[in-house]
Amino acid sequence: MTEQQPHSSGTHQDWQRRAAALPLPAAHLIDGRGEPGGGDTFAVVSPRDGRPLTTVASAGEAEVDAAVAAARRAFDHGPWPRLAPADRGRALRALAGLVERHRAELALLISLEMGKPVTEAYDIEMRAVATTFRWYGELADKLADEAPHTPGDALALVTREPVGVVAAVVPWNFPLTMAAWKVAPALAAGCTVVLKPAEQSPLSALRLGALAVEAGLPPGVLNVVAGAGPVAGRALGLHPDVDALAFTGSTEVGRHFLRYAADSNLKRVWLELGGKSPNIVLPDAPDLDKAAATAAWGIFFNQGEMCTAPSRLLVHRSIADRVVDAVAERARTLRIGDPLDPATEMGPLVTAAHRERVLGHIAAAHEDGARLRAGGGTALPETGGHYLRPTVFDRVDPGARLAREEVFGPVLAVLEFDTVEEAVALANDSDYGLAAGLWTSDLSAAHRISRALRAGTVWVNCYEEGDLTVPFGGVKQSGHGRDKSAHALDKYTDLKTTWIQL
Ligand code: NAD
Repeated sequence: MTEQQPHSSGTHQDWQRRAAALPLPAAHLIDGRGEPGGGDTFAVVSPRDGRPLTTVASAGEAEVDAAVAAARRAFDHGPWPRLAPADRGRALRALAGLVERHRAELALLISLEMGKPVTEAYDIEMRAVATTFRWYGELADKLADEAPHTPGDALALVTREPVGVVAAVVPWNFPLTMAAWKVAPALAAGCTVVLKPAEQSPLSALRLGALAVEAGLPPGVLNVVAGAGPVAGRALGLHPDVDALAFTGSTEVGRHFLRYAADSNLKRVWLELGGKSPNIVLPDAPDLDKAAATAAWGIFFNQGEMCTAPSRLLVHRSIADRVVDAVAERARTLRIGDPLDPATEMGPLVTAAHRERVLGHIAAAHEDGARLRAGGGTALPETGGHYLRPTVFDRVDPGARLAREEVFGPVLAVLEFDTVEEAVALANDSDYGLAAGLWTSDLSAAHRISRALRAGTVWVNCYEEGDLTVPFGGVKQSGHGRDKSAHALDKYTDLKTTWIQL
């Protein structure tokens, strides 16, 4: 990792030079080989300037069939599920090593395709990806099955069996982290995988697939198909030979996957969906400046394109002016710019269409009577990129669209409250339940309120903290699966009972 460090602090020119010389992948990875497909392609447009970067093969049903067949063969007849877990672990750790060696290249692909600042892709996303493959590689041979206490004339075994062929369908906002959170535990469990990245961000995933082959994963163990959601994603959802499907994306598309499963083989479907996470600031927060700075960082990080973004700031009326002034000031000073410039703090939104959608949410907030405190419009029009100013609205009504709908962009809704009970009721008044933040110095209040919040993760006096030891996922319409930690293996294994009469 250290040998790569200089790239992270490289200049704007360094990154531009590297980008110009970067080979861009174009073919699917099926059965261990690059597969150009039947001729259909789609353009990948860079959000930094709105210009096409390249074209990539677009999978139809035939390519999805071929990828699933390869994964099926590798599962039913190949070595992978039968390997000693230590050997699977070694291959995953080799992949982690290759990801580290190609860290700058993968970070650039991510930054170019979806617009996050390359330094964040390098420092945050690529670190997470390598750590995930290494963590599950290390876990692979540390698992044990159960032998329950039985009568003396019987022996019972409860063993974890790999579920089979797993399809992983992921979004573009953290293209490789979301992929790694599914692919690494599924492979560690002995499953084989077909990964479908979002059509906005296929390049980094296709490159990861090639590195998996280089790391020694047998053919068919990891396949990567690029393609449109309603075509390739749907084909995976309906495929009779896919045993489990792990999805991260919008709640709307999550509903499709449940239907696909019902209409096909009842494959189990794991959903990690959207959010509208509350971030509660009580007057006894240990450090109000830090609470305000973290609220701003949280909503603007990754252009606000975060499922966990603390997009509802619930602040006690007595401190609202101080906190909101600080957040709005940060919004005004945040440096928007070319994601390849290390000085950039916020890049462009992923597509022109997505920016239009976010502008629609801003228009709705005005119509619903909220007060604009910062931002509210586009930026850097001369670049052709999809830039948007970090935006803060206060006086947002709890019934307003901005308080209820996921924006998935850098737009904060501020709501005020007078009592803790009111704050908890506001926080839970949402279809979503992915995450929540809470700022208080009162230990009892921290525990009491955390328990009362309906969310998969509660962060107290911090936000977006954690590591691979803790599970991640939502409740309510934010989904139900859990990525990360040893619990992720539950999605990719079946429990088998063997009862032996002695
Ligand atoms: P999306 O739901 O539009 O797309 C996600 C994936 O589904 C893509 O690969 C896409 O090609 C595919 N897809 C789209 N339509 C499909 C269809 N009809 N059938 C089958 N597949 C289809 O989401 P997005 O725009 O890529 O990402 C943004 C969403 O993802 C937000 O709602 C965000 O909250 C959510 N997200 C959730 C988490 C989490 O862990 N809970 C993490 C990141 C993003």
